[in-house]
Amino acid sequence: MGGFFATANKDDCVFDLFFGTDYHSHLGTRRAGMATFGKDGFNRAIHNIENSPFRTKFESDFHEMKGTLGIGCISDYEPQPLIVRSHHGTYAISTVGKINNPDVLTDEIIKNGSHFQELSSGSINATELVAALINQKDNFIEGIKYAQSRIEGSMSIMLLTPKGIYCARDRLGRTPIVLGMKKDGFCASFEKFAYLNLGYSDYKELGPGEIVIMTSEGVQTLVDPGKEMKICTFLWVYYGYPSSGYEGVSVEEMRYNCGASIAKRDKLTKNEVDIVAGVPDSGTAHAVGYANESGIPFSRPFIKYTPTWPRSFMPTIQSQRDMIAHMKLIPVHELIDGKRLLMIDDSIVRGTQLRETTEFLYNSGAKEVHVRPACPPIMFGCKYLNFSRSSSEMELIARRIINREEGANVERTILEDYANPDSDRYKRMLEGIRQQLGFTSLGYNRLDDMLEAVGIPKEKLCTYCWDGKE
Ligand code: SF4
Repeated sequence: MGGFFATANKDDCVFDLFFGTDYHSHLGTRRAGMATFGKDGFNRAIHNIENSPFRTKFESDFHEMKGTLGIGCISDYEPQPLIVRSHHGTYAISTVGKINNPDVLTDEIIKNGSHFQELSSGSINATELVAALINQKDNFIEGIKYAQSRIEGSMSIMLLTPKGIYCARDRLGRTPIVLGMKKDGFCASFEKFAYLNLGYSDYKELGPGEIVIMTSEGVQTLVDPGKEMKICTFLWVYYGYPSSGYEGVSVEEMRYNCGASIAKRDKLTKNEVDIVAGVPDSGTAHAVGYANESGIPFSRPFIKYTPTWPRSFMPTIQSQRDMIAHMKLIPVHELIDGKRLLMIDDSIVRGTQLRETTEFLYNSGAKEVHVRPACPPIMFGCKYLNFSRSSSEMELIARRIINREEGANVERTILEDYANPDSDRYKRMLEGIRQQLGFTSLGYNRLDDMLEAVGIPKEKLCTYCWDGKE
């Protein structure tokens, strides 16, 4: 995925930019960057953050960079922000989103006589492609609208110019942009909590497709928000930081409600389970909700070792990442040995990690391991954001089980039947997953219950990864 932060201040903005960007570190693991504009012009730094955290990598830039306007980003993919010289003048650009038709767009730009230079791993830098699309039009507003209309996928943009910072939320608002305000200026942020400790208070949340320009003096709306919205529901389930919130709905509270709704439907009682636990960290709030609703005690049978692990070593190879995830968990034998545990995880994607966690619990003496994922089975790969937890649909545990039952090329209507929690096919799929991952019992949250925990009308939420509905 990725996240970004921007600030426009009367005085130097680098302190706010540095910490505001750092507070997005949970959204990406590969590259990070900051760009500023001040009386000495543009300045920029980009670093690889795969093996060390943002704050360590940007410490010297923090002391050297200056400016009153700044944008910063954490990226799972291409290096950014980029500084671009065009007929609009010089500007810096950062993006969050996914382009599904890069080849068509690239060919068109090249035919018009432009070129690309920021290749990474043989691919065009997606942020450079967005800049090239913006440069096709006479001004920034028309350019941003043109880029967003041509991109298949989703694209939110921050654009730093000498006159102010343009902030453009993607057309269907799949990812958020919120604005904060303080005496000395304004900020724009993917994560709402990122500016609170910097002294900003909430100013406003951009609507889908809304474009504003932000200076230290104020915020001006250039394009009004659209009516249609499809915000990513996974922001609440997994991606978002617990202290964040989107569309006025707190992440932590939604997770708590999700856990409570699973407990309401669950048939397990206090006599059948000893403790409820969350897979740290994203399963914890769900588990607290479950425990409080069911009356089964909450406990922490394993604890994440956080002092050095957050990003001291983050390889790009999935098997090594799984190994690191496992290494971070330390068991508390007294809470596991001889116990019947009910584990709540935010979701099951490929199942590899949860199977290993379950084996680890059995090896540590657990008698039973019941699993309750906080969202329904993931059936479809995300095509709107760079949702990087699986690289192909056939990696998804639900699809692997369906594939085993039905063979390849399953009809859409059959897949939809598998997604229906009242169907026989769904029950067969669940049993297949349970057996494959070695759980004592398995019960997913239902889509209707999960959406009720968010509390926003379904038509405003993206639920594609669970029900395939666009
Ligand atoms: S498909 Fe899933 S991960 Fe992608 S935007 Fe929709 S809800 Fe979010």
